[in-house]
Amino acid sequence: MSLSVSDSHGGYQPDNPITIPPLYFWPPKPLKTLHWLLTGLLFPWGFLFILISVLSWNYLTPGTEKMASFEFSWIAQIWLRNAALLMLVAGGLHWWLYIRRTQERSYKYNSNWLATGRKKFLWSNQVKDNMFWSIASGCTVWTLYEAFTHWLYASGYVQQVEWSESPVYLVLMIIGVFFWSTFHFYLNHRLLHWKPLYELAHELHHRNVNTGPWTGISMHPLEHIIYFSLFALWWIVPVHPVIVLLTGIYQGISPSVSHSGFDQIELGKNKRVTAGDQFHNLHHKYFEVNYGNTPTPMDRLFGSWHDGTPEAHKVMKDRRRLDQY
Ligand SMILES: [Zn+2]
Ligand SMILES: [Zn+2]
Repeated sequence: MSLSVSDSHGGYQPDNPITIPPLYFWPPKPLKTLHWLLTGLLFPWGFLFILISVLSWNYLTPGTEKMASFEFSWIAQIWLRNAALLMLVAGGLHWWLYIRRTQERSYKYNSNWLATGRKKFLWSNQVKDNMFWSIASGCTVWTLYEAFTHWLYASGYVQQVEWSESPVYLVLMIIGVFFWSTFHFYLNHRLLHWKPLYELAHELHHRNVNTGPWTGISMHPLEHIIYFSLFALWWIVPVHPVIVLLTGIYQGISPSVSHSGFDQIELGKNKRVTAGDQFHNLHHKYFEVNYGNTPTPMDRLFGSWHDGTPEAHKVMKDRRRLDQY
């Protein structure tokens, strides 16, 4: 293990520094970029979220005629679907990694298990606290944005783009969801670190220094309103509703994977699937670095990029020292 950023919790540290994706290399590297798009960005989780979105649109979403006018029943149906999907992924990961402890601490960033008996969490229990904020507030705000967006399309205020008309445009927009989400996340997250907003809202998410699958969208309702506002792009840019669904599913569910606390999930002898996001894990550890995600490396542009190496750690510490004067 070559990486040696001092870690008081003695957990797993990935070997290699975190690098920017080949998409941003100059001169351009088209083959490397394509490889990264398919494997680094989309496989396996991105493809899974796209699949869930397609299935949800076909089987788990009310018909367009229904969604043309606001009614409690169809909005509640969407809430139930979103909560069930989150329960399936976050609950499934939690069961596999933390209840069954299938791989014990292997690839776990922080060697401690999730907190119990800590007063900062509701019911003094980190998992129950995280589940409450994710389901009660997270799924609700996500559903309201999604339902409003469906209503705009169903009632004809925004013209729905059909697959038979513009398949290439829609495929590009599907990939665009991953970039829009991570770019939007950098901006809204930077805003949430503005002291008044941090103290009012974002502090709740940061109570989790050691994260688990339910930490993903465990946020204050005000943060949920800001975090899920990315739906607004589809109020101006017309797409197909399956892309509206993907936007919510990616924003609502992918954080349970990235916050899982485990860099890799072992699926058997020598079989592993990538899970946790060390880049964001460092944000939970050190707060003032890595506001965004690697697919849109805004932190690199604005000097808050921490690649996990001792050198990057020194830069961060020096900056903190300067900030004190
Ligand atoms: Zn987080
Ligand atoms: Zn933060």
